[in-house]
Amino acid sequence: MKRKKKNLPEIESEPIDALSYEEMKLLHIEHEKSEDRSQLPPHDQSDKAKLFRFVKKNKIVTVAAIVILLSLVAGVIFGAYWLISLWVNRPNTSDFTVELGEEEPFTVPYDEMVRDGVLYVDLRKLAPFADLIVSGSPEQMQFTAKTGTFLSFENESEIARINGKRVEMLVPEFRGDKEISAKAFITAEACYVPYYFLKNTVSDGLQFRFNNETNTLSFRRTFTGEVDEEDQPIASTVLFFTNQYKILPEEGEVIYEYSYLIDIEPYLESITAENLLLANKQNPLGPDFKPALEQITVKTASNRILYLNADAAKALEAMVKEMNEAGVTDVMVTSAYRKYDRQKELWEQYCREEKAKHPDWTTEQIEAEVLTYSAYPGTSEHQTGLCVDFMTSTMTALNNSFEKTKAFSWLVDNAHRFGFILRYDKDKVDVTGYSYESWHYRFVGRAVATEIYEQDICLEEYLAGNS
Ligand SMILES: [Zn+2]
Repeated sequence: MKRKKKNLPEIESEPIDALSYEEMKLLHIEHEKSEDRSQLPPHDQSDKAKLFRFVKKNKIVTVAAIVILLSLVAGVIFGAYWLISLWVNRPNTSDFTVELGEEEPFTVPYDEMVRDGVLYVDLRKLAPFADLIVSGSPEQMQFTAKTGTFLSFENESEIARINGKRVEMLVPEFRGDKEISAKAFITAEACYVPYYFLKNTVSDGLQFRFNNETNTLSFRRTFTGEVDEEDQPIASTVLFFTNQYKILPEEGEVIYEYSYLIDIEPYLESITAENLLLANKQNPLGPDFKPALEQITVKTASNRILYLNADAAKALEAMVKEMNEAGVTDVMVTSAYRKYDRQKELWEQYCREEKAKHPDWTTEQIEAEVLTYSAYPGTSEHQTGLCVDFMTSTMTALNNSFEKTKAFSWLVDNAHRFGFILRYDKDKVDVTGYSYESWHYRFVGRAVATEIYEQDICLEEYLAGNS
């Protein structure tokens, strides 16, 4: 492509009358003459003028001076801001206020509450409020809840025990963002334990609140929503669990390996969760205990809708899936969570039946008979929402004919891998207080279930051995 020529406007130029060399020289001389300094007005001697002249002569020095001056000003402003922010964000080292429910709050010196960058709480002071039984010595101290679950601490040790399991007390740093290992400090009067460790190990019964600005720790009981005879709200029992902490092996402990036919990943969190809630004749749950429940997903007798604790329901789903995968398909759940009212109905029904069979028996005799196969209201483990009764299609009633089924054979060898135990074994009748029930399986969590299975013990023995 050809470039088009632009039509540039013509510049009009005036003719220049050039000067000759001589003319130029003359002009120059004239100019030099006119610069006779003696004829000039005197120099302005004011400070302003002096400064102006200095600036004109020393441009670089002036710029440098301005830069330095501005930097100084910025430095002063920034410094002041920093000091103010330090003052505003200064650590609040005032004494702590501890509130236990509606009780009169008390104060604790800052240095007792915050040690080595960790927030502490005196668990001995909290124990009566939380219905915890204190036992032990200044070397080792244990706090047992009514649920049978417990925490134990050793003086100046970072290792604590949750329900007998060794864990390292890892807690967030006080007013920091690191996670650090914290010790317990026990004296004859007090047992200081890391606040966040306690908070992380309580799954029910207590609520925690910490107000950063006022250094106030508040503890509240949670309530069942029911009231007692005196119209007072009934507090939920405290339940300790290891969930948030990695269990450390005991010295010389066997580490179990588990393998599954099904994809266990979606269930792992539930089957490894731990729940040691104890309900037996000596430890009744009472009419007010109501766990959080979820509908179970496995096959039930007559397609009934049954409920369990969330972890137990998930672990049960995994267990039945695996069982089916292993070729055992004739199995169904006939009973799961049973509320107190239903226990009471059953109890009364059984008593009537026994009375009809033995009209000459006293009430004590009748109750003693019923107790051999049914729980007194409030003492049934089914109220925990952690256990199930299994049946097969060939069974007409719930009894030990279950022992002859494939489902039973499989459960005996595998239930522990899913956190379940055969709860009322043949040779543990004296300890559990219940006759042999080949159909009744209880969720405790995989680690405990394996230990119970391997050591051939029952839950009561496990809890006693770990206290
Ligand atoms: Zn049962």
